[in-house]
Amino acid sequence: MPDFDLFVIGAGSGGVRCARIAAQNGARVGIAESRHWGGTCVNLGCVPKKLMVYASEGAEAAEDARAYGWDVEIGAHDWPRFIAAKDKEITRLDGIYKSMLDKAGVGLFVGRAKLIDAHTIEIGPGPLDEKATPQRVTAEKIVIATGGRPVRPPIEGAELGIISDAAFHLTERPERVCIIGGGYIGVEFAGIFAGLGSKVDLVFRQDLPLRGFDQELREKLLEALPKHGITVHAGVSPEKIEALEAGARRVSLSNGTTIDTDCVFFATGRKPATDGLGLETLGVKTEKGAVVVDAHSATSVSNLYAIGDVTDRINLTPVAIAEGHTLAERLFSSHTPRDWAYETTPKAVFFSETLASVGLTEEEAAKESDLDVFTASFRPLRQTLIGRDRKAFMKLIVSRDSQKVVGAHMMGDAAAELMQGVAIAVTAGLTKRDFDRTIGIHPTTAEEFVTMRSPTRQVSRTS
Ligand code: NDP
Repeated sequence: MPDFDLFVIGAGSGGVRCARIAAQNGARVGIAESRHWGGTCVNLGCVPKKLMVYASEGAEAAEDARAYGWDVEIGAHDWPRFIAAKDKEITRLDGIYKSMLDKAGVGLFVGRAKLIDAHTIEIGPGPLDEKATPQRVTAEKIVIATGGRPVRPPIEGAELGIISDAAFHLTERPERVCIIGGGYIGVEFAGIFAGLGSKVDLVFRQDLPLRGFDQELREKLLEALPKHGITVHAGVSPEKIEALEAGARRVSLSNGTTIDTDCVFFATGRKPATDGLGLETLGVKTEKGAVVVDAHSATSVSNLYAIGDVTDRINLTPVAIAEGHTLAERLFSSHTPRDWAYETTPKAVFFSETLASVGLTEEEAAKESDLDVFTASFRPLRQTLIGRDRKAFMKLIVSRDSQKVVGAHMMGDAAAELMQGVAIAVTAGLTKRDFDRTIGIHPTTAEEFVTMRSPTRQVSRTS
């Protein structure tokens, strides 16, 4: 008899959910974690990042308050004080994750796990316990939930830059930051550092930031970046980083430009964390470093499963949680496992003006049908007294034949909070008529989604 019915490698969002649900359904479960209970999201991702976004909003909030009659002066931002407060909260959350697993009866193992064979796991030293004595456990089923790691581009001097892991623990805020990469992390940290007063250069190799998002939304973001004091270098790649005096760096770009900065921040994507797991010896199929799984998260080895970023499907925390939840139910519950509408997974980029989307982009939708596209660009009421040049942008994409709303996109205050509700409507397959029948909440930005009367344009199917 194996030691466990299920052993989970990696206590990030997906792994923790999978372990807990399995244990609640009567399985004997163990879990190994080498670095942080709660994984990337809680320690080096979504949660501390959002706290940093809140920190970066302070100066504008003070300006806004002044515009509304408050006599407010804002002094300098105390970075070490903020980082200490943030770390205290993250330590608290780590403890909660650990105790949730404990209470669910999950066996906790601190250390780096590797697969010895399809049923044996060895847990050895890792960052959380560098002197751990290796121990072996056996399990009937094993889930790989090891997440991903940030990558640096293969350029000269890349070691002189930092990755997002380090950005959360800088001892002081750099006065100048050059961010390489125009994806989620690049755009979010550009907003964070600019909001806190750093001079930010943002370098990306496409013409627009946020590849994969709706083109028009990307154009709105490109227009907004300089208004936040961010210098944009679009359509260029970094070629070389050099060390200058006093810790400064020089970034050479493909167009011949150089940028002198205090910190080079690589936000150039993440790769699945499979190193040292022993997957090759077991014959687990991988593709571009990601564990290949079927729709039920099963790998090519019958008792091994994988969930979350290590599979490189939709690399978002709530998706990893959904995958872990469903897998545990499928393996150990007598009920039908919960299903999820992955195709309408909403997403948000927490820039200083939040971007949020659900469903298809206009470009994707036009490949499927003729479209009615509704857009609105307007100055929200809050901005009127402030006098800042800032507009909200909202967009609905409607399939002309079915009249279903197949995509919704927004840039503006509270876009992420608002898009969660719209995501329910898009997931439910509601029509533009349903949106039109819905009474707005006045005066809000959100009401614009139910008051768009006539299409801004009609788009013919492209293929
Ligand atoms: P992204 O994949 O979002 O963006 C990577 C960026 O780096 C792109 O602009 C890409 O350019 C560029 N890039 C990649 N390789 C190179 C290179 N060799 N030289 C120059 N530029 C390069 O990755 P991130 O690191 O921003 O984020 C990783 C993932 O984490 C996201 O995809 C997302 O899944 C998750 N995440 C989610 C967040 C959220 O939900 N709010 C927040 C942060 C992260 P190109 O487009 O040309 O490939």
